[in-house]
Amino acid sequence: MLKKSFVFQRLPMFSSHSLKRFSVPISYASPGAQVTTEQPPSRVGFLGIGIMGSPMAHNLLKAGIDLTVWNRTKTKCDPLITLGAKYKASPEEVAASCDITFAMLADPQSAVDVACGKHGAANGLGPGKGYVDVSTVDGDTSKLISGRIKSSGASFLEAPVSGSKKPAEDGQLIFLTAGDRNLYETVGPLLDIMGKSKFYLGDVGQGAAMKLVVNMIMGSMMASFSEGLLLSEKVGLDPNVLVKVVSQGAISAPMYSTKGPSMIQSNYPTAFPLKHQQKDLRLALGLAESVSQPIPIAAAANELYKVAKSQGLSDHDFSAVIEALKSKFQHSENQ
Ligand code: NAP
Repeated sequence: MLKKSFVFQRLPMFSSHSLKRFSVPISYASPGAQVTTEQPPSRVGFLGIGIMGSPMAHNLLKAGIDLTVWNRTKTKCDPLITLGAKYKASPEEVAASCDITFAMLADPQSAVDVACGKHGAANGLGPGKGYVDVSTVDGDTSKLISGRIKSSGASFLEAPVSGSKKPAEDGQLIFLTAGDRNLYETVGPLLDIMGKSKFYLGDVGQGAAMKLVVNMIMGSMMASFSEGLLLSEKVGLDPNVLVKVVSQGAISAPMYSTKGPSMIQSNYPTAFPLKHQQKDLRLALGLAESVSQPIPIAAAANELYKVAKSQGLSDHDFSAVIEALKSKFQHSENQ
């Protein structure tokens, strides 16, 4: 059972933005977990300045953190550099110059490359430093990265996030952490700047598993919602009214009301890229396979996202999965 602890801190070195943020964070930890009110580490690195990494790094910067950034495509660092972030030319150099380094990468391969590859972060780490991987990867990948990081003498925490682009901008993410308990406590104030709550779930792999289960549910929800929108239209209903009806009942979810209206307009402004949702379903299928758990709904949803990818929709928002159903309907109508 989870124990809820409330943390309130006032850190004089931070701006009013961060003080406001520190008044509300919530920690959930397994029984016996210690929640401390330590000062945040002074030098922080951030690797991976994409849709999520950019606003997360921005919030650290706004809170007065001494931040050093790196991204494969350097230009994405430029707005942060303009705001005062330092830049280093490799993950190794970032890790070497910081106490704590965060990584927000696309997928298992890029997370391993950035942590363990040539000029990877592990080469710049050592005793007294910490590496926090907030990317969504599978447990085996996380354990591989953890092993390499810990062999340098540094600590490791996996901390994938629940919440998308807007919660990242608003500092409202939910961190699903596992790994070194001491590092969890050390980086707590930093997680509180970027998020509204944090869970400590135990050994490395448990944070990854929690994140994959959450996104497995979300992927199936979006696929089912897409079917509903199209079916409502086919039988002469107004899908906009469907969105309103759904929003008032027990199956209401913010995702439906935020994305429904644009889906009806065939607009898919990217908050969560479709390719990442399909990656998460694929990884969730592997997780289920590892314990012989049937997940037929998620398996069917995964097929739909694969169709959408084959239609060139990888970089659109995952709500574009509805397009895969449209072409299916058109196909059957033409037969
Ligand atoms: P994104 O915008 O596609 O960013 C991916 C990042 O990974 C970029 O910085 C990209 O660098 C980097 N990258 C990709 N391949 C690389 C490689 N081979 N070597 C080095 N760097 C590489 O994705 P995102 O939406 O920020 O998502 C990042 C992670 O968070 C993913 O694991 C995703 O599943 C997870 N997540 C996303 C959301 C969301 O709503 N977007 C929510 C929760 C979790 P370049 O800029 O050079 O391409």
